[in-house]
Amino acid sequence: MIPIPSSDPAEVIVDRQERSLIITWRDSHRSVYPFDGLRRDCPCASCNDSRSQRLNARDLLVLSGPVLKPGEVQITNYRPVGWYALNFTWSDGHDTGIYTYESLRANCPCQDCAGAGAAQ
Ligand SMILES: [Zn+2]
Ligand SMILES: [Zn+2]
Repeated sequence: MIPIPSSDPAEVIVDRQERSLIITWRDSHRSVYPFDGLRRDCPCASCNDSRSQRLNARDLLVLSGPVLKPGEVQITNYRPVGWYALNFTWSDGHDTGIYTYESLRANCPCQDCAGAGAAQ
């Protein structure tokens, strides 16, 4: 039996210097999400569409606004969506992605979690 990980955040830190989102969950697990990956995996409908049209998701950093390269993506603003999700405004102006805590937790990039939920 694999225990169901908590998708309840205890603390959310947007570290613009490190360009990482850091979430500490109620089960005290800590997840660090680089901005580049978050932007690439934006869950909004238009990004989903674009991703499904191309096989190489790595080309899909940019869907609107000025060209962003890995290493340049910033979060200019963010807000909680109810109790269940986060919404980011990216430095390319894109702001329609709703990142649920559940999917963030399921896609925790740390070594312990990689392979447990996220497709590798
Ligand atoms: Zn998007
Ligand atoms: Zn993890």
